[in-house]
Amino acid sequence: MARSEADLLHALTLFLNGDDDAVWIITQHFVAALLAARNQVITENNLEDPSAMNESDLLEMSRHIAVIMFGFRERMQEIEDEGELADNIAWQWERIFIDQTVRAIEAGKLFGYMFVERVSGQVWEKTWMSRLAHNTCAVCEELHGMTIPVQQDFLSLGQILILPNDRHYAQTYGNLSAPSVHPHCQCWLMYTRRN
Ligand SMILES: [Zn+2]
Repeated sequence: MARSEADLLHALTLFLNGDDDAVWIITQHFVAALLAARNQVITENNLEDPSAMNESDLLEMSRHIAVIMFGFRERMQEIEDEGELADNIAWQWERIFIDQTVRAIEAGKLFGYMFVERVSGQVWEKTWMSRLAHNTCAVCEELHGMTIPVQQDFLSLGQILILPNDRHYAQTYGNLSAPSVHPHCQCWLMYTRRN
């Protein structure tokens, strides 16, 4: 990715303007972050050939990258539409960039554990973890502590999550297999081996 903050801001400006090279550079950055996290999980579990991805992994990975790219661009555009001052824009865009990189890393870890399960016969579960701070949203609070098999989704497309006080949340971007749920979501997954 870019070498300095000025380079990054330049690349992000070009990206928002739809520049092909910038779109490609940023896509590569998220894919690289995802793959590095995936491969790290696999090597930590003493397995080889981390590059072997099957068709369903590739499709799922494409979906995660598409959601990350879409969310990234949408949030950058929101900041620009709000007419923030130039130096504030740089700071906010960087924050969104870092947020989305964390999302790519979370997705990568999930693919790592899915691979580990497939090739080793091990059984793993994932638990949704939320910071439970004063600003934690009701959805993340509701998901906090939910433990399911790594291959399953926390919410499937169209599923409605019932929240306290007669509120609800509808899953609209594909299936929810890993954080995030919303911009600035600070949730992560904890993995536990079950056999
Ligand atoms: Zn969250």
